[in-house]
Amino acid sequence: MAKLKIVKHGDEILRKVCRPVEQITPRIVTLLDDMIETMRDADGCGLAAPQVGILRRIAVVEVEEGQVIELINPKIIAYAGEQREQEGCLSIPGRWGITKRPMHVTVRALNRHGKVFEVSGSELLARALCHEIDHLDGKLFLDCMIEEVK
Ligand code: ZN
Repeated sequence: MAKLKIVKHGDEILRKVCRPVEQITPRIVTLLDDMIETMRDADGCGLAAPQVGILRRIAVVEVEEGQVIELINPKIIAYAGEQREQEGCLSIPGRWGITKRPMHVTVRALNRHGKVFEVSGSELLARALCHEIDHLDGKLFLDCMIEEVK
């Protein structure tokens, strides 16, 4: 496994729309492993491929230690409710803001074995899933921030 460099806000790669993964190659599996290591090293609870310079629809989320969710080609298939909580981003160090997000989401994605699965989450997990999937469409939390936290 290798630690990857995290792209910072201002780099236009963060504003690009990522392409779906068509085939899960050993390279994709290595990327997932490296992204998990990078996320943990940076003390983050999520990381999306564009944040390490790769424009593919891949993200990892870990809001509970040891419970990594690997997402390939993720899609939000259901959402409900609303929450306004604080968010930050490994690509935007030193800034936090209150965002408006759904309280519950269900995401459908592929795992590293190419199998379709669904994951549902509320509160922090819902925020993290939305945040990482937004990255795959070139969106940052600043776009849905309703108030900056100083
Ligand atoms: Zn982020």
